[in-house]
This record gives sequence, C-alpha cells and structure tokens, in this order.
Amino acid sequence: MKTIAQNLMTIQANIIVAAERFCRSPHEIKLLAVSKHQPLSAIQQAIAAGQRCFGESYVQEAVAKITALTHEALEWHFIGPIQTNKTRLIAEHFNWVHSLCRLKIAERLNEQRPAHLPPLNVCIQVNVSNEAHKQGVNLVELVKLAQAVQQLPKLKLRGLMMIPALTESLQHDPKPFQLLRETLQWLNKRGFQLDTLSMGMSADYELAIAEGSTVVRIGTELFGKREET
Ligand SMILES: *Cc1c(COP(=O)(O)O)cnc(C)c1O
Repeated sequence: MKTIAQNLMTIQANIIVAAERFCRSPHEIKLLAVSKHQPLSAIQQAIAAGQRCFGESYVQEAVAKITALTHEALEWHFIGPIQTNKTRLIAEHFNWVHSLCRLKIAERLNEQRPAHLPPLNVCIQVNVSNEAHKQGVNLVELVKLAQAVQQLPKLKLRGLMMIPALTESLQHDPKPFQLLRETLQWLNKRGFQLDTLSMGMSADYELAIAEGSTVVRIGTELFGKREET
C-alpha cells in the first residue's frame, strides 16, 4: 500500500509530464483532492504532504471537516449535487462551487454568501454527453444561466465543469473534453471571461489535461477507495 504522500507525488509528476507533453504549463493546472467519504485523518495526511485544495460532495460531512481544519489555509470546493436547503452552508463554508445547474440555486448562494467573504467562485456543470439522467445543463440552458449568474454580485463565474458518461470514460474518449473546451472558448468570444475548465478525474486526468483542463478532481488515485454509502 502506497501512502497518500507517495500517491500525491505520483499524481503531481503525472500532471507535470502530461502538461509538458501537450505544451502547457503545469502551473495552470490545479490538483483538487476529492476527499468525499474519506476520514479527516486522510485529509490531514494530504495537508502534511502539501495539498491545499479539497473537493467535497456531501454538505454535512464537508462542513464537519472544514470546521475541524479552520486553522489551516485551505481552499474548499463543492462538487456534488446541490439541494436547495443546503445552499446556506455551502455559501458560508466553501470557496468554490463546481456543480451549479440551476438559477434558483445561484440566486440563493448569492443571497446567502456572507458579506465579509469574497464572491463565491462558481463553475456551471454542463451535461456534454446529453445523458437523460445526468446532472448538468445543456448548451442552450448554459447560455441563459451564465448570463444570469454574471448579474449576481456575490458569485464570480469562473468556468465550466463536466463529468463524462461512464462509457466515454471507459473508452478514453476525448470528445466530451473537447466539447467543454470549445464551449468555454465560444462563451469567451461572446464577452465572458472564463478561465476554468474543471474536467478530469482519476481515470482520465491526463486525457483531460491534453484537452485543456485547468482543474483535475482526483479522489481514488490519491486516497484509495472510499467508503461508499
Ligand atoms: C467523486 C468525484 C470525483 C473523484 O473521482 P475519482 O474517480 O475517485 O477520482 C471527481 N469529480 C466529482 C464530481 C466527483 O463526484
């Protein structure tokens, strides 16, 4: 069994190699350690090894960890589905949200973001594979939601996020990643100033880096298997 510190070094090395292979700077790729369903001790090991950005999907579980670690200078990213009654806790405790899909949620996050905190960084989750049961907006909904979010002062629209379909992921299909990058470029040509492409997980982050990812979200490769409920 490798330690979390060893896994972290391997992933960092893979990111550097992938970035250089595709003529990118490794500095423009953020490693988000996805610590959902991992114990506090696992996060503490990653912190000791130098990791600062963590991704969580379950609000209550996340807030308990964030509260226990307030003495550390960490960046917390919410990456899971957002329930209406959880927006206040997210607005109060997180630096980023990657999984925004609905205007109503955006409006609540904007209202509930405490005045003393900087605007909440947000990415809109796009359903590039157009799967019926998947979280995320389609391209038409995306434009409407992006325009509306731009008007909300306590949110800062940073970019787009996606999770590929399982079949695409198994086939190492670059198309969904390309589609997300093209969508971001298309929005930027129309006046948006987005700098974040949140794509790539344990199984496909090198492929995602090849296609322009700026945030890779890695759980299993770093922490090992999580306790699924
Ligand atoms: C769990 C999760 C991840 C991490 O997945 P791994 O395959 O364990 O790396 C990344 N992104 C999202 C949105 C997740 O829910």
